[in-house]
Amino acid sequence: MKKEINGKTKIIGIIGKNIENSLSPLIHNQIILKHSLNFCYLPFQVEDTNLAIAIQGTKALNIRGVNITFPYKVKVIKFLDEVEESARRIGAVNTIVNNKGILTGYNTDVIGFKKSLQDNGKFVIKEKNAVILGAGGAARGVIYTLLEEGIEEISIFNRTLEKAEKIKQDFSLFFPQSSINIFSFEQDNIKDKIEEAHLLVNATSLGMPPKIDNTPLPDEKLFHPDLLVYDLIYHPARTLFLRQAERAGAKIINGLPMLVYQGIESFFLWSGLKVEGKEALEIIRQIAY
Ligand code: NAP
Repeated sequence: MKKEINGKTKIIGIIGKNIENSLSPLIHNQIILKHSLNFCYLPFQVEDTNLAIAIQGTKALNIRGVNITFPYKVKVIKFLDEVEESARRIGAVNTIVNNKGILTGYNTDVIGFKKSLQDNGKFVIKEKNAVILGAGGAARGVIYTLLEEGIEEISIFNRTLEKAEKIKQDFSLFFPQSSINIFSFEQDNIKDKIEEAHLLVNATSLGMPPKIDNTPLPDEKLFHPDLLVYDLIYHPARTLFLRQAERAGAKIINGLPMLVYQGIESFFLWSGLKVEGKEALEIIRQIAY
């Protein structure tokens, strides 16, 4: 195992808010230790007004790359030199690679979400109905994945309807046959849409610390046993949203597998090393909760 930091150590890290609750430093530094790599992964808490300067700073400090998390996945794009094709289509970036001062944005959330749905949720996306709560950066990755994998119908509920509208507008270009409905949370359709759905995803930040008593669906009667209920939040391990779903007899999955799988892909982009997903997930599960 290599523990020391020296003049050749490559710095990677994560930029966002609520960074003190992120498990990404733990995941990446475990991978680094296990494979004796000369890397170090650091948390960077960045306020909105400092985002541009923080991204430029990665160049100035020769940082090898960073993850981008809540709430900057969409906002960060304008500060990059290049954006990989699928991340550009999605309109959200969660990974930046610094190649000799050229910053390129990628989206590895898509792989993380897809793999976790298949491996951990045992869910076949094709010809199913999904309800997505939220229309931020993470929701964009989730919705893109589902459309790409042939979901039959997606209903997006969001507090700010314009953001859901923009997703529909953007993604209809790439998936013209797709059926995308958009609603605000206040609309009555939520009951019918969840009743018809096979998959219900919380892609809002409601339930994250410090307000862990928040849930995007206060009415517990809306959950049913035929749903796979997925919360992208991984801290706490069981949000109120997941506990509500569990009480209704639904199958649940939290955001940890997605976090680990997207992290492995990001790490590959920075280091060229491909880590075994299941093994990493088990290690992290044991130390994280
Ligand atoms: P974001 O771009 O800031 O989007 C936040 C979303 O939450 C928006 O839809 C926003 O609605 C909604 N929201 C926030 N406060 C709300 C409130 N008080 N009432 C109703 N809706 C509210 O953030 P993000 O990057 O998409 O992240 C969303 C969540 O996913 C976070 O909890 C993040 O940790 C998690 N995540 C997990 C993983 C993983 O690997 N497990 C990966 C990515 C993200 P408006 O549009 O109306 O503002």
